[in-house]
Amino acid sequence: MSELRELYQNTILDHNKQPRNFRVPGGATCHADGHNPLCGDKVTVHVAVDGGALRDIGFQGSGCAISTASASLMTEAVKGKSIEETLRLFDEFHALLTTGGEASEALGKLAVFGGVREFPMRVKCATLAWHTLRTALGGKHETVKTE
Ligand code: ZN
Repeated sequence: MSELRELYQNTILDHNKQPRNFRVPGGATCHADGHNPLCGDKVTVHVAVDGGALRDIGFQGSGCAISTASASLMTEAVKGKSIEETLRLFDEFHALLTTGGEASEALGKLAVFGGVREFPMRVKCATLAWHTLRTALGGKHETVKTE
């Protein structure tokens, strides 16, 4: 168990240190800002939507290790997926962090955040980028705030 925990921690540390897709993608069609005042996490998610799919995605901002790693892993997980698949993945990710249970295969590396469930404050850090992505895809230009 401790080895597994270490593996999870290493994935989060790696993505915090070297965030993937930390940029504004070319041809971005929508974006949204997210803010988690409890922790001070701020993220802006940019998406290039093309034909109902996320052709490219990137993010910018600053926050704690959990929020940065979550945004980084999220961009890897949803790039190339359809909007429908992306929203379904968000539901599964959210369920993993709030109601528990086994991570589905679809979640892949995102399963590393399963342990965050034990820390309710951290759940907001881990889901901030996802809430922000959903708002960006909904085309609403408002700042997402977790409370
Ligand atoms: Zn945070």
